[in-house]
Amino acid sequence: MPSVFVSRRIPEAGLKLLEGKFNVAVSKFDRVLTKKELIKGVKGKDALLCLLTDKVDAEVMDSSKNLKIIANYAVGIDNIDVMEATKRKIMVTNTPGVLTETVAEHAFALMLAIARRIVESDKFIRHGKYKAWAPMLLLGADLKGKTLGIIGLGRIGTAVAQRAVKGMGMNVIYYDMQRNESFEKEFNAKYASTDEILRNADFISIHVPLLPSTKHLIGYKQFLMMKKTAYLINTSRGPIIDEKALVRALKNKIIAGAALDVYENEPKLAPGLAKLDNIILTPHTASATIETRNKMAELAAQSIIDYFSGKTPQNVVNKEVLGK
Ligand code: NAD
Repeated sequence: MPSVFVSRRIPEAGLKLLEGKFNVAVSKFDRVLTKKELIKGVKGKDALLCLLTDKVDAEVMDSSKNLKIIANYAVGIDNIDVMEATKRKIMVTNTPGVLTETVAEHAFALMLAIARRIVESDKFIRHGKYKAWAPMLLLGADLKGKTLGIIGLGRIGTAVAQRAVKGMGMNVIYYDMQRNESFEKEFNAKYASTDEILRNADFISIHVPLLPSTKHLIGYKQFLMMKKTAYLINTSRGPIIDEKALVRALKNKIIAGAALDVYENEPKLAPGLAKLDNIILTPHTASATIETRNKMAELAAQSIIDYFSGKTPQNVVNKEVLGK
């Protein structure tokens, strides 16, 4: 029976699929493993089911000559040295699709919450400051009629854009390496350069993957290009935004606000970030619904099952290994 190491307890729906077919070892710690612990867990195993908090590099892969597949319980694969895995003919899979709508809903929750100052308002009441209705109390911004700039019109970016147009009556401009003319027609959206988006959008939502080319895509120079009234939303990966520059931009009111689910050095925050009022922070929970986390667990487990039953898993990241 092949062996699998699961680096942290995932929903039962996934573990149940593996039981009986594999020797399953689940980490006994309910926390992120240290490098040493991860190496120990992977030792001699045929498969690894890991999380975005596990840095899976050559050293980890060295710990098992038998390792055939790394199933990442995430869409983003920036935590895995995919080139190294490919060199060793280790298959890498991820869990796209099943979390698209959930992450898009979270991006929207953040957009509405920052525009309508929901977190600030909640604190205001709890601190006993609500004395009476007032004409100028906690004024925010409307979404209807505003321009949403999407950077990265993939699965999640598209789902956010659809909600913006159909649900909120917003106008969409977008940038992606690949232009999507049928999307433009259907949603009356406009293809624009990143600079055009920065200059014209009232809300900017980031949906590109973290790659060397997208690291610090948004820095101080970009904040200076944005409208003073603009809001920035990031549910993709933290390092895409220069977080220190964001603190400076928010402190100096270069932009109106930001809402983040992901951070440059998770779980650490840039100094001063959490002290600001014009930012909303969630702890990388954009895909955190019961339904979606179950589906992610099933999909990651199914990748391993498919691999060992000679089938091609649904979401192979390094297709170069197929047929090798
Ligand atoms: P996707 O692959 O469908 O979309 C990414 C899009 O970015 C693609 O259309 C691609 O063409 C475009 N792109 C890539 N590099 C680019 C560049 N340099 N410039 C412009 N466009 C570029 O992926 P997805 O399923 O939409 O997920 C997007 C990202 O969201 C993931 O990579 C992941 O990091 C992040 N994510 C975060 C959470 C969370 O919990 N916060 C959950 C799921 C996914």
